Amino acid sequence: MEKVAVVGCGTYMDQGYGCPGEWRCLKAASQGEGKFEAPSSVVAFVKCQCPGRAVLPTLGMAAKLSQIKPDKIYLSSCLAGALPGCPYTGAEELAGILQEKTGIKVIMGTHDYH
Ligand code: SF4
Repeated sequence: MEKVAVVGCGTYMDQGYGCPGEWRCLKAASQGEGKFEAPSSVVAFVKCQCPGRAVLPTLGMAAKLSQIKPDKIYLSSCLAGALPGCPYTGAEELAGILQEKTGIKVIMGTHDYH
């Protein structure tokens, strides 16, 4: 089973509109639905916090402390498809930084649930 890390938009999550930390990303991963090709094990769930600079070191710390390197990093659907978009680091830019610095493939989005 693939080991994955999920990064959610912390600002959106904190505002409580049915945030991704509740179930959507986790259900999609466990069921192999949405952007997950097969049931996957979520080994880290990192909350981005404005302006987004801490995501990379936080992901690194999660991998270090858990001693599990994820096979893929997923940007949550609420982050990858944010409307209005992130005023700081856009999802594409964040994905590029994470992919370049970690060498781990980054997938845009997690689920299609409403
Ligand atoms: S920097 Fe952007 S993606 Fe990160 S928490 Fe703030 S608004 Fe969300």
